Amino acid sequence: MAQRTISIDEQVTVGSLADKLMIPVTQLIGELMKSGIMATVNERIDFDTAQIIVGELGLDIELAKNQADDQIQESVINRKANQTGQPRPPVVAVMGHVDHGKTSLLDAMRDADTAAGEAGGITQHISAYQITHKDRKITFLDTPGHEAFAALREHGAFLTDVVVIVVAADDGIKPQTIEAIRFAKKANVKIVVAINKIDKEGANVALIKQQLAEQDLVIEEWGGDIVVVEVSAKNKTGIDKLLDMIFLVSDVEELKADNDVPATGIIIEAHLEKGRGPIAICLIDQGTLRKGDYMVAGNTYAKIRNLETTLNQPLTEALPSTPVVITGFKALPKFGEEFVVAESEKSARSIAEKSANSGIGQSGKSDIGGGELIRMINQSNQVTGYPVIIKADVQGSLTSVLDSIKSLDTEEVAVSVVSSGVGAINENDVHLAKSSGAVIYGFSSQLPTNIKRLASRDNVEVKLYSVIYELIDDVKNGLSKLLAPEVVETIKGSLVVKGIFKTSKTEVICGGEVLEGKLTSPSIALVYRKKDMLAEVQITNLKKGPQDAKEVVKGEMCGLNMATTSKVDLQEGDEIRFITRETISRSL
Ligand code: GDP
Repeated sequence: MAQRTISIDEQVTVGSLADKLMIPVTQLIGELMKSGIMATVNERIDFDTAQIIVGELGLDIELAKNQADDQIQESVINRKANQTGQPRPPVVAVMGHVDHGKTSLLDAMRDADTAAGEAGGITQHISAYQITHKDRKITFLDTPGHEAFAALREHGAFLTDVVVIVVAADDGIKPQTIEAIRFAKKANVKIVVAINKIDKEGANVALIKQQLAEQDLVIEEWGGDIVVVEVSAKNKTGIDKLLDMIFLVSDVEELKADNDVPATGIIIEAHLEKGRGPIAICLIDQGTLRKGDYMVAGNTYAKIRNLETTLNQPLTEALPSTPVVITGFKALPKFGEEFVVAESEKSARSIAEKSANSGIGQSGKSDIGGGELIRMINQSNQVTGYPVIIKADVQGSLTSVLDSIKSLDTEEVAVSVVSSGVGAINENDVHLAKSSGAVIYGFSSQLPTNIKRLASRDNVEVKLYSVIYELIDDVKNGLSKLLAPEVVETIKGSLVVKGIFKTSKTEVICGGEVLEGKLTSPSIALVYRKKDMLAEVQITNLKKGPQDAKEVVKGEMCGLNMATTSKVDLQEGDEIRFITRETISRSL
């Protein structure tokens, strides 16, 4: 039988790949699992993964990519070409097959951080952080999980200077190792191979070196240029040497960035946090980012309220290659989105709106800046607003539905009609809804059983109405859910610090006089030095004299304990504002 060629995009959902390959989706999911990739029907995998899996399924099918594939490389070269400016730390990603020790190795390197002070302590997952080794900084990107890996592949090439490929000495090169090698080569980043688990019985370093050569990675020992370090994450051997080698290979690149331009970079994580609203973790590419800056990412923007390291230490400014945590976004930005700093709130809002309205395919204009990535992101099918597909029984009712929902648009949220038409809901509508994330609305429109089944398999939401205002209300609800919740802070009282009794990384005990209002415990509080906010803390106890106190009022002296996430260097004269914070969801 002749080989069939199938074209797919750089990113494809598991469901649509199964459709194209004409195999049951369960078979594809099973095969992915065998390679250590847990992906559901609606999750995306990238082209290279698809290719490896198709190979493993033994199908007589060749995959071709729909889109030019050189964008990553082109852009990385653009970034690396920046040879003016100040030296910046290397950005390093650790990749490799599942269970080969990526997490253990990252932990071991983090434990080797000479600037960390108290060792250990950090247990939660952090998507990026900096450590100091021999007085120099290294930024690590930690992106476990396949979804993040695929997105990193798409966008992270801009960020990564060095990829550490971890291979377990007792297991050898596996599909995900090959995927990582391909990524690194395509993105034109430096490779350091860490052969891990050398402490294990059955470790065979010579065999791994042989396997690397088969992947065209010829090690230095054999006359090539690939640096290999033998490590044991478990016994912490070879870790210092690995860090040395990361510097060695990145120094060849003479990594530099401009510190004096408006900051740009990429959102590497975003989530909502109770009491703090949208939180974004960003990696700065160029420029200096400052607290109070106006930052635009996609269709949302922030006045940066808190600027912190990823270990929650407050910063007033941050330089290129630094990962930072930011609060103050109006809505959640998206993973992988580029951010830029705008001159004023007005200009931030207008850039964000422009981006919301431009939708797919607009290129990044100069006022948005840093064009390459924006171009890529816009091409990668970014959906803004509330995407819907509208079907109606007759043209007249279709027109009135479309007119009514258009009137719901506001400056912040908008309905985006992906497609509309007259007649029954069909397979095309479902496919389109799946790929665009749209909800299908049917107004007096039929939903045949087979289409209903398809929609449910693909997790596509179909809503049928025969009363127009009920349909409109539902669209309005959908839009409301997109509105960023409003975070309201109320100052309950404040205190001026008169004495500091104990300071550790996690706790401060101090005393002072209540300036205003009423202080109660427990409470959230903000520590201010003149106009600058230094930290956000949790008040855990209040004391009047030796007695615990429920509340303290204006004019009274009191002692207080506060829990801190990082060391707060409190001074006499600092002001502690006790606040409450409410997240209020809004509706149209
Ligand atoms: P990941 O899936 O690549 O992140 O791998 P993990 O870091 O979770 O490690 C997988 C398993 O290998 C865990 O049980 C680790 O304890 C173990 N492991 C990791 N590094 C070493 C090592 O250097 N030596 C030994 N003996 N075991 C290791």
